[in-house]
Amino acid sequence: MRLFIAIPLSQSFRDSLITVQNEWFNRGIRGNYSSEENLHITLAFIGEFPDPDLVLDALSSVSFSPVPIELSGIGSFGDLWWAGISGPPDLEAVSRRIRRVLSENGIPFDRKRFNPHITLLRKASAARIPAVEIPQASMEVESIVLFRSDRGKSGMIYTELGRVVCET
Ligand code: NAP
Repeated sequence: MRLFIAIPLSQSFRDSLITVQNEWFNRGIRGNYSSEENLHITLAFIGEFPDPDLVLDALSSVSFSPVPIELSGIGSFGDLWWAGISGPPDLEAVSRRIRRVLSENGIPFDRKRFNPHITLLRKASAARIPAVEIPQASMEVESIVLFRSDRGKSGMIYTELGRVVCET
């Protein structure tokens, strides 16, 4: 199964992201918009791996305090358009801790540098991102989820397999 570890987003954070997507759509930008329920920040991409319980065991040893994050700008990787996140030092530390326990447990993951983002649109029909107002959005990261990713009939389906919650 195809696995990744990610931060689920609060409803108000998602609402702000949807506002941006709607602005783009209203300006004629077409492509594959991420559905509201799929909006997330990936911390580690594992890919094909047969043993989610091993991943959940490894994750359970990661402790973290709530991490405040804010929506911060828009960017692109080619025709993939994303929303950026500020608050990276703490978030990066959590990502590093997760990646370390994955390594220690022999669980493979993509080792590309952590670049916190939320994919909003794939295969954007325009070459340039129109300047739209970015709404304020902030939240506390309080849980980290192991997701399974499957190709559905009309897009990807992410299924939560388990989560770790921050220390209070
Ligand atoms: P996904 O590929 O399963 O990715 C889930 C999450 O992991 C996303 O946040 C993605 O980041 C991230 N990710 C994926 N590959 C990564 C890598 N090599 N290194 C670091 N992070 C990585 O699901 P998706 O992002 O919704 O789907 C993207 C495309 O993959 C779709 O066009 C789909 O057709 C294709 N795909 C899916 C499957 C499947 O079985 N699920 C198999 C093959 C191809 P980004 O949001 O930045 O991409």
